[in-house]
Amino acid sequence: MDTVICPIDVKCGDQVSALLRPPSSQQVQDYFDELLSTRQCHGLKVGHNGVHGKGVYAGMDFEEGEIVLRDQMLVGVQHLSNKIDCLVCGFCFQFIGSIELQIGRKLYLQSLGVSSTSDECMKGMMAHNSKACYGTSLSSNADADPYKANGGDFGACSSGSSSDTVGLPKELLESLMNGRLTLPHSDKFPLPEAISCPGGCGEVYYCSMLCSEADWASSHSLLCTGKRSESLSKDALLRFTQHANETNDIFLLAAKAIAFTILRYKKLKAACPKETHNGSVAWGLLLEAWKPIHMGYKKTWWDCISLPDDVSDETAFRMEVKELAFTSLQLLKEAIYDKEYEPLFSLEIYGNIIGMFELNNLDLVVASPVEDYFLYIDDLPNPEKNQAERITQPLLDALGDEYSACCQGTGFYPIQSCMNHSCCPNSRAFKRDEDRDGQATILAARAISKGEEITISYIEEELPLAERWASLADYGFTCRCSRCLEEGEEEEGGGETP
Ligand SMILES: [Zn+2]
Ligand SMILES: [Zn+2]
Ligand SMILES: [Zn+2]
Repeated sequence: MDTVICPIDVKCGDQVSALLRPPSSQQVQDYFDELLSTRQCHGLKVGHNGVHGKGVYAGMDFEEGEIVLRDQMLVGVQHLSNKIDCLVCGFCFQFIGSIELQIGRKLYLQSLGVSSTSDECMKGMMAHNSKACYGTSLSSNADADPYKANGGDFGACSSGSSSDTVGLPKELLESLMNGRLTLPHSDKFPLPEAISCPGGCGEVYYCSMLCSEADWASSHSLLCTGKRSESLSKDALLRFTQHANETNDIFLLAAKAIAFTILRYKKLKAACPKETHNGSVAWGLLLEAWKPIHMGYKKTWWDCISLPDDVSDETAFRMEVKELAFTSLQLLKEAIYDKEYEPLFSLEIYGNIIGMFELNNLDLVVASPVEDYFLYIDDLPNPEKNQAERITQPLLDALGDEYSACCQGTGFYPIQSCMNHSCCPNSRAFKRDEDRDGQATILAARAISKGEEITISYIEEELPLAERWASLADYGFTCRCSRCLEEGEEEEGGGETP
């Protein structure tokens, strides 16, 4: 039945199985002890409980509403369709630029006919120009800073296709983007200046040099399509990205995870004296570099992906998913492969990385300062409000309901991903007003005592028992939390068994 056979899986079978073998409880303990201590996160412990593998435990008492964890993502991506709505830092995902830039850029892209709700439009844009398509690259000349440059620079990518659906003059939108026009009271909502990628791709922007350098070192130096890119071929990278954009943006995240491992490996190798280099040392370094990904609970993507309602032939569906992953992997391989870390390019590894995201990822959500801005204007007393609205109301009307769109994406969070599920969890992922970046925030949903296991819900808590169990089936376990046991007994008592 298996029609997709990856030659690397055959050739590097032993190494691939070693990379995918679940870590021992000692390895888990050591890794997370170190991670928690370097993050100065002393209120938590990660441990094995024998029943459902690893879990997170309270190392102290928490009060209801208290922060249990702020977890930094290992890798994350902003969803493709969201890139039109929000310009955020490519590493920490906080909003950047200015209120004016956020508004002007979005209306400008809308005027080009790029819509976050229209996939067809997106694909049209993609086909016509893969670089300017998502508006992530506002400039055709990546060396120039598009936000400081004059309107002419920006106009370079607008030529030809303006259909002016927004109904606002193009000059107005350009003045918003290049900083010539300042909106009333926008100084109350300062954002960090947008710094373009040092590699020159013009596709990614950052809030600070710190984020720019961290992203470069973590994965972007291999995945950048600019002239300083360390990839084998920028064209191959563009083909890989286009395929991911047209099919599933989870591939972009998988590429980040592989690039992250490769760059960690190179760094470890560089720190190791040359005369000690040999095959087994290199393999040890690769295993070490793989460790952060190794720790995540995994299954292959095509085995754990939930079956869409309209699919009747399950086997064919899972095979299609596997084939899609294989196509994506071959495109990635053309861009960043090296024989030295060949096992990382096996289909089993790729499928397990994506499956790990499928089973563990948290939605990445960052609230928009543009929403705050318009709410602030709305709350102003008159006559300030009237004065301000003369300028802001046409913008708000043009933005429509989507004015408040938040940054949306997905991320893998190493500590949060160790938290087990409960249908009556004692904690939940929740962004407070002040949480304005991509970190995960886990709050205590009720008082938690020292030693208690920290649990979150993987699914919608309100669902009835049978539906909860159906949703949890994708995760491969049957929930035995106190609520499930109670409700199960009730149903049995009533003469109904699920
Ligand atoms: Zn940042
Ligand atoms: Zn770049
Ligand atoms: Zn349950």
